[in-house]
Amino acid sequence: MDEILEMTINEMPMAEFDCSCGRRHVFPVHDISIRPGAIEDLPAMAEPFKGSKVLVVFDNNTYEVAGRRAVELLRGAGFDVKELLFDCGDDILIPDEATLGRIVQNQDLDCGLMVAVGSGVINDSVKFVTSRTGLPYIVVGTAPSMDGYVADGAPIFMQGRKYSPQAHLTYGLVGDTDVLATAPQDLVQAGFGDVVGKITAIADWDLAVKANGDYRCDTCVTLVRRALDACFERADGLPRRDPEALGALMEALTMTGVAMALVNISRPASGAEHMLSHYWEMDSIARGENPNHHGIQVGVATPVIARFFELLADELPEGTGALCPPHAEIEALLRRGGAPASPVEIGIGRDLFRSSLLEGHTVRPRYSILRFALERGRLEEVADAITEELYG
Ligand SMILES: [Zn+2]
Ligand SMILES: [Zn+2]
Repeated sequence: MDEILEMTINEMPMAEFDCSCGRRHVFPVHDISIRPGAIEDLPAMAEPFKGSKVLVVFDNNTYEVAGRRAVELLRGAGFDVKELLFDCGDDILIPDEATLGRIVQNQDLDCGLMVAVGSGVINDSVKFVTSRTGLPYIVVGTAPSMDGYVADGAPIFMQGRKYSPQAHLTYGLVGDTDVLATAPQDLVQAGFGDVVGKITAIADWDLAVKANGDYRCDTCVTLVRRALDACFERADGLPRRDPEALGALMEALTMTGVAMALVNISRPASGAEHMLSHYWEMDSIARGENPNHHGIQVGVATPVIARFFELLADELPEGTGALCPPHAEIEALLRRGGAPASPVEIGIGRDLFRSSLLEGHTVRPRYSILRFALERGRLEEVADAITEELYG
């Protein structure tokens, strides 16, 4: 029982075990390699698909940091490789009809595997297309920027609107910490913010179990908590690109994905802090502006949600409040990791901030501290108090 707790992350692929939560869990990713020089493991990971063509997808940035090497290694090992470059210069690649369509057009009939070299958009686009065309894909991560490497959702655009259809899990993940060390600092901040968000996600999950009768898996919580602790211990190393700190960050992002895949819900990764982040993002898109990175928004939303737990402490179920550290501690943690710590710092205006607190619970039908405050008739009072504290 709970055998997964004895494994390192690189040992977890295809794990299957009876869990103390009463369910049998399966982790259906075939291969993970997170280590310095992990890109060298790509040909062995792709070996089962050697008889067919491999389409390797990258943009001009990810080509330089890992794409060229990936192609070299595969060709050197005798693979039939086709390359697809999105040459977008300094522009941001959007995962829309044009991008997804171009990947489909480059999938030849004899293609048996795709390799996505990138983090956000390249990963999401290849993940979505392969889920629809029925091919496996391997992702070579280039930035520890989000927890979507091992996740089956793919946020993409249709007719200008962002949505997140279900796709599928990757066949394998290459997390080369030498490559991750070259990621732009804002992407590292984003990944760290997304990891910090798991603090309130876990507190919210506990609240949903006790106040709303939701299901919980303690083994998953333990997996995530341990990865968070390892990452937070090394947070000081992130601003100076310490490889161990980056590896621990990548591992925490991936471990969240493992936990989500085991329970088939995003509870281990996402609570009310994500609702605020999505609310702010939708507002930016509606105004035609580029939103902040997902994880940067999640990071600054986390101490805000911690304030909810503090202000509602007298009404919380026993033990829930103890899962959420004080907001000042979370802010200090974000700063240690070199990330912004307050919505004011990232340009969220007072009115948007206040309405996000009041309406964030409508973003998705999931029980959280926001709904708890609403049910107790205290949402407005708490929202006003927090807005006043942050914006004066
Ligand atoms: Zn997230
Ligand atoms: Zn379980």
